[in-house]
Amino acid sequence: MEHSQSHKASLEAQVKLLNRMYSERDAQDILEHALREQFAGEIALVSSFGADSSVLLHMISQIDVRIPVLFVDTGKLFGETKRYRDELVEQLGLLDVRVITPDPEDLAEKDPKGALWATDTDACCHIRKVVPLAEALGGFEAWISGRKRHQASTRASLEHFELEEGRIKVNPLANWTATEVLQYAKDNGLPPHPLVAEGYPSIGCMPCTDKVAPGEDPRSGRWRGQNKTECGIHFSSASKGGAAQSI
Ligand code: SF4
Repeated sequence: MEHSQSHKASLEAQVKLLNRMYSERDAQDILEHALREQFAGEIALVSSFGADSSVLLHMISQIDVRIPVLFVDTGKLFGETKRYRDELVEQLGLLDVRVITPDPEDLAEKDPKGALWATDTDACCHIRKVVPLAEALGGFEAWISGRKRHQASTRASLEHFELEEGRIKVNPLANWTATEVLQYAKDNGLPPHPLVAEGYPSIGCMPCTDKVAPGEDPRSGRWRGQNKTECGIHFSSASKGGAAQSI
């Protein structure tokens, strides 16, 4: 107990220091430090291969194409997302993309008809995203997320480094604007997710992603009409997991 408390205190101090050191540094510097020094060999990128994902995927490909990339396939994704994933993986030459899937036993027991999303989105996200990802992250000290402050009011004070569930989370793009994301993708010849042009600026699972009208909050199409803005992977307390396979 004492040991775990002192470990937590040491991680908290580490996060504080990293935020102080890197608050004014750019995303590439943060990634270089995290991937090559601070967490070398102990860090993965978690990517949804969604609307903004190409930026971080490109950045890590410039550092090392063998960095593990975790992709959670909930079983409810758009086909366009999986095709986009394959296209980007090939273009960037990524060598270690791991497809994380829910535990089939969990699905059979808790969502046998695949319709849990219609009655309890929190429970559905828990068995299809939170639990499998928590299991997949078990072997890593840290992970990289593409979240940004501008995406939602709940993310307005997002820092570059956070401590969550005993693991450090790195948010290299925390202070990026939507314009900077688009410009980076354009400058580096990165293809857009095909659904963006159809009115989906934020893309998750098919049943829970709606089109967004011009001027609306980009994430307003996610779980529209519900008091829910996050799937739960960013404040996970899951312990039991699913399976991973490489593509
Ligand atoms: Fe289920 Fe919707 Fe969550 Fe996907 S986003 S895991 S379908 S509730």
